[in-house]
Amino acid sequence: MRQSVTACVAVGANLGDARQTVLQSLNDIGRIAGCTVMATSRLYRTAPWQAQGPDFVNAVVRIETNLTAPELLQALQAMELAAGRERPYLNAPRTLDLDILLYGDSRIDSPALTVPHPRMMARAFVLYPLADVLPDFVQREDLLRVQDQAVDRLD
Ligand code: ADP
Ligand code: MG
Repeated sequence: MRQSVTACVAVGANLGDARQTVLQSLNDIGRIAGCTVMATSRLYRTAPWQAQGPDFVNAVVRIETNLTAPELLQALQAMELAAGRERPYLNAPRTLDLDILLYGDSRIDSPALTVPHPRMMARAFVLYPLADVLPDFVQREDLLRVQDQAVDRLD
């Protein structure tokens, strides 16, 4: 048995019924073999940042997994594909974006996978929901640094 690792995955959507897509994805991540959902953040709405199209709905999920990071990425990419994700150009609007933010304490730098996610500390739409599920990781100063980015809580 492989040891289980705590990982955090960011979920974002901005096409179609984005809220529904995010809720469904949070559920589906828990159905990936080898993944157990430990906590899900609240939902947040943000204007596209270095991206285009309608507002995004964002959330973060904390899981325990015995998948390797590449295996987890593969499972998440299969979910993106199933949600009809296309990549016509960089930062194009997307039905579903699933990013691995953290995988235990691992640092990974391969062509397919960089962990911790390189842009996470610059993005309010990641840090707010991450603080919901991993409060000790996100410092007050981290949130202050991105306070100019508007993020609304949904519900
Ligand atoms: P972005 O999420 O930056 O908007 P994409 O979702 O289109 O971009 O992902 C582009 C590529 O980023 C993926 O094919 C994947 O291999 C790579 N990638 C690198 N690091 C990560 C990570 N931590 N989580 C998810 N994808 C990653
Ligand atoms: Mg992505």
